[in-house]
Amino acid sequence: MRTKSIAAVLACLLVTAASAAGCGREGSPPVKGPRADKLPVYRVDTGFQLPDSPTWRAAHRRGYLVIGAKEDQPYLGEKDPASGVFSGFDIEIARMTAASLGFEPKKIRFRTIASANRETALQNGQIDYYVGTYTINAMRKKLVGFAGPYYMAGQGLLVRADEHDIHGPQDLAGKTVCSAAGSTPYQRIKADYPKAKLVAYDTYSICVDNLLTFQVDAVTTDDAILLGFAAKAPHEMKVVGKPFSEEPYGIGVPRRDNALRLALDDALEANEKNGNWKKAFEATLGLSGVPAPKPPPIDRYPAN
Ligand code: GLU
Repeated sequence: MRTKSIAAVLACLLVTAASAAGCGREGSPPVKGPRADKLPVYRVDTGFQLPDSPTWRAAHRRGYLVIGAKEDQPYLGEKDPASGVFSGFDIEIARMTAASLGFEPKKIRFRTIASANRETALQNGQIDYYVGTYTINAMRKKLVGFAGPYYMAGQGLLVRADEHDIHGPQDLAGKTVCSAAGSTPYQRIKADYPKAKLVAYDTYSICVDNLLTFQVDAVTTDDAILLGFAAKAPHEMKVVGKPFSEEPYGIGVPRRDNALRLALDDALEANEKNGNWKKAFEATLGLSGVPAPKPPPIDRYPAN
């Protein structure tokens, strides 16, 4: 019985169109997903020019933007395996900022990039910018630039619903904890909780599969990500304790492209002012049970 229910949950987590796959328990309503009619429609600034940005100029010539994202983070960045369509709060941040830069939603190509590969993807020009639960910090700022922040998350823990021993990071000694390689939560456990048995995979969805099949005792990353997984399988998993870090989400840009960074800051600010940010939040990440907060102040730091 147990194995069967886990298999069903795994199948559901792998399929973004969860409602169509019937992830709800028998008789319960289907899992909520972003609804197109609740999403804002962004005004495309057709006359926009950004001659000082080499990234923008190349994208303009090419005719479309290439934006790095995640494809397996519920309500943040999800790719529907059948249609290939991306959805979630980060995806909306990408669409609203692209519109301000003169690119309509059809003129975005999303490219999935794992946490460990973000800096290289930006440095190699594989992507124009990156929107995917990307924490701004001093170390990363040596390699890439960041517009924003546009959201403040905090590190948390996801465990199986019947787990009673783990309430916070202090309970991780001797427990197996899973996180994504190259992420700030991975680094924090390694540095501050060395008694935990830490394992790393490319993505958090692999960690969640491992949690549901009893290979690990907990998954750690940002609360925003964990709450999404828990919301999709509330009978199987829960988020425990209080956030134990601050993870300000930024839009990653090539380090020297300050014109692009500042244009993205302007775009974020305009969309926060006109209500699009809040509307987008409520239609996506809001579905994992988080009320729309006030966005954090944007940090237009000087070129370095
Ligand atoms: N926000 C954290 C980070 O940037 C964790 C989420 C992620 O890996 O994308 O490392």
